[in-house]
Amino acid sequence: MKRALIVAFVLIAALAVIVTGCTPQKQFLSIATGGTGGVYFPLGGALAKILNEDIRNMEASARVTGASVANANLLATAGAEGVEIAFLQNDIAYYSFNGLEMFKDRKNDQIRGIATLYPEVIQLIATEASGIKSVRDLVGKRLAVGAAGSGTEANARQVLGAFGIQYSQLAKVEYLPFGDATAQIRDGHLDAAFVTAGTPTAAVTELANSIAITLVSLTGPEIDALRTTHPFYVKHTIPAGTYRGLAAPVESVAVRAMIAVKGSLTERQVYEITKALFKHLDDFGAAHVRGKDLSLATAQQAMPIPLHPGAQKFYREQR
Ligand code: GLU
Repeated sequence: MKRALIVAFVLIAALAVIVTGCTPQKQFLSIATGGTGGVYFPLGGALAKILNEDIRNMEASARVTGASVANANLLATAGAEGVEIAFLQNDIAYYSFNGLEMFKDRKNDQIRGIATLYPEVIQLIATEASGIKSVRDLVGKRLAVGAAGSGTEANARQVLGAFGIQYSQLAKVEYLPFGDATAQIRDGHLDAAFVTAGTPTAAVTELANSIAITLVSLTGPEIDALRTTHPFYVKHTIPAGTYRGLAAPVESVAVRAMIAVKGSLTERQVYEITKALFKHLDDFGAAHVRGKDLSLATAQQAMPIPLHPGAQKFYREQR
């Protein structure tokens, strides 16, 4: 009897080893997005869902973050605090990869690209009441420059710099995600905000629906000079009707949104991620209209860093 018990026990233990050995490990992937009032957030949620439904044992989840610069830093962070996948601007990815601008002491040449997505327009929004009609009019005014650690903030600084304006010449500078910035504008605490995002941006749509706003055009010799020193800025027209009250198109500049990953992900992992994304473009496009911009034809345009070999393999197969 005792012997039978021992044999049974050994058998059960052996079976347990076999079963756990055969069960593939769960893949936990964190996806860094941005604030809830932006475009990264709904698209990141859609991407997590696509991966979870399409890839076996995938446990992907989207995370609210301070956006591009913060996301580049999260891609450089190991362990559960960091992320494996991130949405970010192509200019910021380039700075991170090459150790430039805000990444002077934090170069990370281990990030790799999956795809570029859609234009992220530098939108300078102001209340009509503020009388702000040009970048120069911002002097002495109260401005939101994007969340701390956002690409928006970097763009705000560069655009103001192109006009020779420092933050110290403004009445107030607030580091806020889009939703908080537009709430403060609506409540009369701020006059204007920079928003670098795909259009229409939810936070701006909401604001335009509640008060009269203007979009300041970003053109002229100062912007041309900025485009020469910072070639990621490309000309972009915001069509009339993008927001309530926008009667005529507005000329601005845009960078490009992209998805990047840690270079340490395996070729197979990134191949599966890329394949799942392109298989479910409909779901990606349903989360936000800018998701519809992603296509095989444009996914490598303005890609500022090397593609991950897994993504490369996928694109090669599609030719
Ligand atoms: N491009 C923005 C930034 O990095 C975020 C855009 C978004 O959340 O959609 O500041």
